[in-house]
Amino acid sequence: MLVKKRIDYYPITVILLVLGIDLLIFFFSNSLWPLLIWMPLSLNIKGWICCWNHHHQHYNFFTVRWANRLIELIMGMQTGIVGEAWVLHHTLGHHLHYLDQSLDESAWKTPQGRLMSRLEYTFKVTLMSYPKAFKVGQRYPKYRNKLIQNLLLTALVLGVLCYIDWLKTLIMFIIPMVFLLFMSVHETYDHHAGLDEEDPHKATYNIMDRWYNLCTCNLGYHTAHHIQCGRHWSELPQLHEEIKHKIPAHLYREGTFPFNLITKIEEQFVELRHQRS
Ligand SMILES: [Zn+2]
Repeated sequence: MLVKKRIDYYPITVILLVLGIDLLIFFFSNSLWPLLIWMPLSLNIKGWICCWNHHHQHYNFFTVRWANRLIELIMGMQTGIVGEAWVLHHTLGHHLHYLDQSLDESAWKTPQGRLMSRLEYTFKVTLMSYPKAFKVGQRYPKYRNKLIQNLLLTALVLGVLCYIDWLKTLIMFIIPMVFLLFMSVHETYDHHAGLDEEDPHKATYNIMDRWYNLCTCNLGYHTAHHIQCGRHWSELPQLHEEIKHKIPAHLYREGTFPFNLITKIEEQFVELRHQRS
């Protein structure tokens, strides 16, 4: 089988579908309007792809190297985070260091011990994301070399697209890549900010909203993810069940917009049906 877990056909299909629409509009639209309409609409779905890119870097979708490389190139073009950037900055950086703010690659605390604002965190961590990935790469030269290859390959593809039409490339690829790199970091502020803990069960916020977890592929089960980051995303709810008695109640948050709104509407709808029956 080409994929390790059949359930990964869900994110893979959406990723390829989004790529197909991007390319179709890029190559076949005679005006900029289709790009200007589709680009902002696609940002939300590409935001989910940021989460799936994260999951893939922890647990590759495919059983063969070429397919993993190809999907990483595509997700890099969709999210601004190329293959191995997640591995170095996040898996081999943040996951090993998140309980020590003096080492954490995604530190929410300043060296003076102050909690950063979301804006300060977003800019500092985003602007330092690739330099820090390279710094971690000093300890893992094999991954650092792959990061360089992925960056060069992504730049080459963008260069070819720019040669064909630089303005369309800017709108369809470069602006979303930069924006989503910032947004990925922006969203991670909610995972750990303010939790100065040594116990991993108390160092992470969780979101149980089912719409949020459907679209992010269980990113809300974040304590479970940090306890065993090698576990496939589909197994995180089960792992959460096993450890939830150790997670304090204040470490649960409601889903982010628009998931919280969808859940509220759904709850109202269910309550209405109960009242009528
Ligand atoms: Zn992770």
